[in-house]
Amino acid sequence: MSARGPHRTRYIFVTGGVVSSLGKGIAAASLGVLLRERGLRVTLQKLDPYINVDPGTLSPLQHGEVFVTEDGAETDLDLGHYERFIGTTLSQDNNTTTGRIYRNVIERERRGDYLGRTVQVVPHITDEIKRSVRVLSEGHDVVICEVGGTVGDIESLPFLEAIRQFGREAGDRAMHVHLTLVPHIRAVGELKTKPTQHSVRELMRTGIQPTVLICRTEHPLDDQTRAKIAGFTNVDLEGVIVAVDVDTIYEVPLQFRRQRLDDYVLRRFGIDAPPPRLESWTRMVDRIKAPMRGTVRIAVVGKYTELVDAYKSVEQALIHGGIANDVEVEIDWIASQELEGSRDPSLLEDYDGLLVPGGFGGRGIEGMIAAIQWARENHLPFLGICLGLQCAVIEFARHVAGLDGAHSFEFDKQSPHPVICLMDDQRRVTTKGGTMRLGAWDARIADGSLAASVYGATEISERHRHRYEVNNDCRARLRAHGLAFSATSPDGKLVEMIELPSHTWFVAGQFHPELKSRPTAPHPLFASFVEAAAAGLSANARPKAAALGG
Ligand code: GLN
Repeated sequence: MSARGPHRTRYIFVTGGVVSSLGKGIAAASLGVLLRERGLRVTLQKLDPYINVDPGTLSPLQHGEVFVTEDGAETDLDLGHYERFIGTTLSQDNNTTTGRIYRNVIERERRGDYLGRTVQVVPHITDEIKRSVRVLSEGHDVVICEVGGTVGDIESLPFLEAIRQFGREAGDRAMHVHLTLVPHIRAVGELKTKPTQHSVRELMRTGIQPTVLICRTEHPLDDQTRAKIAGFTNVDLEGVIVAVDVDTIYEVPLQFRRQRLDDYVLRRFGIDAPPPRLESWTRMVDRIKAPMRGTVRIAVVGKYTELVDAYKSVEQALIHGGIANDVEVEIDWIASQELEGSRDPSLLEDYDGLLVPGGFGGRGIEGMIAAIQWARENHLPFLGICLGLQCAVIEFARHVAGLDGAHSFEFDKQSPHPVICLMDDQRRVTTKGGTMRLGAWDARIADGSLAASVYGATEISERHRHRYEVNNDCRARLRAHGLAFSATSPDGKLVEMIELPSHTWFVAGQFHPELKSRPTAPHPLFASFVEAAAAGLSANARPKAAALGG
């Protein structure tokens, strides 16, 4: 292959226009899949124009989930799509923000590295942006770099200028892909190309000529419309790709392949590569679209249910669990706060499984606890993630172990039984950004536990993002009442997993397994949880174990 070697790395810059939320991340990742399946070493990067140094301090309701990488970086949720699509592990280098870029430049200025010179957006900020892209060249044939936001935003300008310069310097080793919207106006029954025209013109005003246009649309574009778009944007007809809405995001690479997007990109780069091997990807998509074994219904009871992006990886991992079991997973997002008043936890009767995901702050905690209590008492399969584990421990402490008023120190500083407390090395932490227990940590699973059989291993590594932990002073009491601490950190000091041996499937982890699940390799915890939920479905009646757990 002619693409090897650090000097031959190709760069694909992906921008978006017209409106946000067009799925730039999915488009970038899908192109990544095609190039990877043609034998190229591909990585993806996200440049975010906001001033936060990372999204770690952002509310999930503002910006969606925070995706945590192995190396403990708190990153944009698009990195989740990247990892799930191209199957590799990314790092802090794969996501940067305006805040991080400026911080690096200002630190250098304070050190005196620019002594005597005025530090400016051009060239200092743009150089730092270019450097952050170039860092990824090593070991990769193609770097796909997505610029967050929409062309025309004030915040994006330094990024657009930087990728314009980069494109110029890299010559035919760089190309620009622009994602636009072609809306369908129902009143006249027509697709409108004008917004695309304006968006490309806006992009060109920054000096960037796109090579590929990906047109998001509800209805297929006919060739005449494609030719019209090609005509007014100076893009080859082959480069005008139509992205009609599809049933599952995992279909997008196949949709691009049908239009030979990868052939066009590789030809423009002068790369010769065998056709993509998409057999197993296609099988996976077929399975999502036509599951053989019916549907399981999962209730996700969480704090940020108004925005499904807040639980992107949880949603995807559940879908992956469905792939593993050949079932469709129907997910209902239930605001935990509603279970504190307007709705009764017995609504869980209609579901085959309960998942309580991660979160921060006291709002809605009692609703999660009520849901978990119902699941425990009624043998509904339960998977708890991070805060979900903490709530399960509080519930068990209060209702089974007789520790009235048990709570997490995060929510109740006066609780007589702080069964969840601040981790030792968090006690002195005063700043919020990047200070939690983050990234991959090893855990050891107890032999003979459900967790051990689910993982098929006793040594695991999972990604974390938390400050609080199970209070070790409470462990003996909880254990005596039947709660199993099925995994701990290798030194035994931190609880990593709990389970209820008396229950059909009741498991929780202090970590975020959803971050490592992939459509082609569903995470064992999600696969097993969905399997348990599917078993409940076919058995029809769940044992009503009123006596369970005391
Ligand atoms: N708020 C809890 C903690 O900090 C749980 C965090 C989470 O769910 N990610 O420990």
